[in-house]
Amino acid sequence: MRLPVAELLSIAEALRLVLARTSPLAAETVSIETAAGRVLAEDATARVDLPPFPSSAMDGYAVRSVDTPGALRVSGRVAAGAPASSPLRRGEAMGIATGGVVPEGADAVAPIEVVVERDNDTIEVASVDAGAHIRLRGSDIGAGEVIVRAGTRLGPAHLGALAAAGVAEARCRRRPRAIVLPTGSELRPPGVRLAPGEIYEANGLILETQLARAGAHVERLPAVPDDEDAHRRALSRALAADLVVTSGGVSVGPHDLVRRVEAELGVEEIFWRVAVKPGKPIAFGVRGSTLVFGLPGNPVSALVGFELFVRPAVLALQGIADPQPPFRRGTLRGSRRRSPQRDELIRARLRPAGAGVELEPLTGQESHMIARSATADALVLVPRGEGELPDGAEVDYLPLS
Ligand code: AMP
Ligand code: MG
Repeated sequence: MRLPVAELLSIAEALRLVLARTSPLAAETVSIETAAGRVLAEDATARVDLPPFPSSAMDGYAVRSVDTPGALRVSGRVAAGAPASSPLRRGEAMGIATGGVVPEGADAVAPIEVVVERDNDTIEVASVDAGAHIRLRGSDIGAGEVIVRAGTRLGPAHLGALAAAGVAEARCRRRPRAIVLPTGSELRPPGVRLAPGEIYEANGLILETQLARAGAHVERLPAVPDDEDAHRRALSRALAADLVVTSGGVSVGPHDLVRRVEAELGVEEIFWRVAVKPGKPIAFGVRGSTLVFGLPGNPVSALVGFELFVRPAVLALQGIADPQPPFRRGTLRGSRRRSPQRDELIRARLRPAGAGVELEPLTGQESHMIARSATADALVLVPRGEGELPDGAEVDYLPLS
């Protein structure tokens, strides 16, 4: 479908089409030992009350609050790991470590700081309130309660909570298998000498890194030359993945073969070209459940296309609760001419300013300028329209990590 420029799809419409074709992958059972970065497919519930028993929050003595203040006989000691062998009787105290089981009969812990030890089995205790320094059973979470919700990517605190609540395995979405395929006869790997007309291949590594950070298992294929057979061989293999991301070869030149060869291989094109700068010739299609993204070859176009369309798809494949690009609000520094037909994403530096942030566009915004882009920490959205956005305008931006 080739539209006149004025009728190009908007970013939002294109993203809607992508997400409409993307459903969460199957769930599998994963040991929490290897679940870091995985996305929960089902709510995880606590196996036990947390804490599992009333425990001491301090090193000190378990007491009956009604016996304080006063002199108490020390009848034993509770170490972490096992309960006391007998209950606490009137006029008695038991030494207790942080995390120790509060003995039956005790209703408070007198911290060591408020205790004077007279001799081996007598202490003098200041007044303590009922309940003081006792962590109640289930006061953190109760057995059966949801501890981490479906759609959450598991980080250190989530994993700690699961472990503490006795959850050894969790149902997680399968990780998406992604294949990256750079195209272009001019591309050489860094480390070799360039012949005239050649350039170093950069997009493969950009995309591989972005995909891996988004949670995919990535395989990067060597760049293919602009040759139909080479495209066919590489793409037929790539299409076995959940997600194929190519770079280059989606413009209108005679060497732009990606869409043609994909069509031959049964890829149904959902859209080609979006009203975005850089990255207009981006293509998206599907074959079966495989998502196929054709990003333009200019490295900044590939980077921007990934942020806007590919990352949301990778997140949606993992069942992330909100896969949309995380736009935030900030203040533009310097005025900016708008493009009449395309929403533009400009590279900017971000700095805190009062309660918000200021965004200073980099000089050198052309889509081949990957070296300059490396110093950016945000993509600022300059909506299409007439005239310019003034200095101080409130804008949406995407943070770059
Ligand atoms: P294309 O989209 O194939 O027309 O490529 C647009 C521009 O991006 C050309 O200048 C290409 O040489 C350049 N280019 C394409 N692929 C890559 C790549 N993988 N790494 C760096 N530059 C690229
Ligand atoms: Mg090319």
